[in-house]
Amino acid sequence: MKEELEKIREECQASLSEAKTEMDVAEIRVRILGRKGSLTQLLKRLGSLPEAERKQIGRRANEIKEKLEARIEQALEDIRERERRESLAKERIDVTLPGRRMDFGRRHPLTQTLDEIVHIFSLLGFEVVEGPEVELDYYNFEALNIPKGHPAREMQATFFISEDVVLRTHTSPVQVRTMEKRRPPVRVICPGVVYRCDSDPTHSPMFHQVEGLLVDRGITFSDLKGVLTVFVHRMFGKETNLRFRPSFFPFTEPSAEIDIECFICGGRGCSVCSNTGWLEILGSGMVDPAVYRFVDYNPEEVTGFAFGMGIERIAMLKFGIHDIRLFYTNDLRFLRQF
Ligand SMILES: [Zn+2]
Repeated sequence: MKEELEKIREECQASLSEAKTEMDVAEIRVRILGRKGSLTQLLKRLGSLPEAERKQIGRRANEIKEKLEARIEQALEDIRERERRESLAKERIDVTLPGRRMDFGRRHPLTQTLDEIVHIFSLLGFEVVEGPEVELDYYNFEALNIPKGHPAREMQATFFISEDVVLRTHTSPVQVRTMEKRRPPVRVICPGVVYRCDSDPTHSPMFHQVEGLLVDRGITFSDLKGVLTVFVHRMFGKETNLRFRPSFFPFTEPSAEIDIECFICGGRGCSVCSNTGWLEILGSGMVDPAVYRFVDYNPEEVTGFAFGMGIERIAMLKFGIHDIRLFYTNDLRFLRQF
């Protein structure tokens, strides 16, 4: 039994030195010290030995049992320590590696242009208001002094939803809706999407406008000139020359278009300005008293002016873009330039 004991000890030590995982060690523990383990079985048999021998072997057996338990604990500890070190080595972060580059988006050139326009007018005390894109004929035309059958309707090729419902051809209906709701003073700009049945390098069936309206007591044409001159100088630079050219709109009287001196040729004439030296950038005029009738304002008491511009047109001039369709094709090579 003595030799048997030593054999168990040796076998245990040999297996432990080969154990690679916690599982291996657990198996050894069961094989030696478990309920049916070799050492446990041997201890059970001690009772059958003569007393002297039993004491001697018993002591030795307990010694070995303690030692083996300690060895097993130690082996477990070693394995855990090794695994920890290995996983640390594997998961090490190299802080000197170059980072992955993030691809940042940027604002669309039309959004940039609109933001700038809105910013300038908000400095001048204008408030932003919005309205529906699917609009009643009444707001899009009639209340703007363009009754059915009026030749001015031909100026705007219209998408009709039904006889009385259209996709708005300009943002002017928002002005009418605003005046219906508020009493003067009114000082608003209306940015938004508009639709016209038109498509070529400088026209898109869907485009953006900003219109503005200022109505109060004692507003004159010189207020119009003052506000729009400040706008042009802010938008295109203080040195920009501009002129007010008489024009016609059904809802303003008198009406004027604003041209800025062509900044490509400096006024000498080029293909962009059709050799005139001037670029048309916005329409404006004093609100026709007939329009006030529709919103219950008294034209004897209040006067005002309105203006409107295409955001695409302003952006094309500002950034030197020749084809309006580039704004909508979402070509990153184009968009990344702004
Ligand atoms: Zn020019």
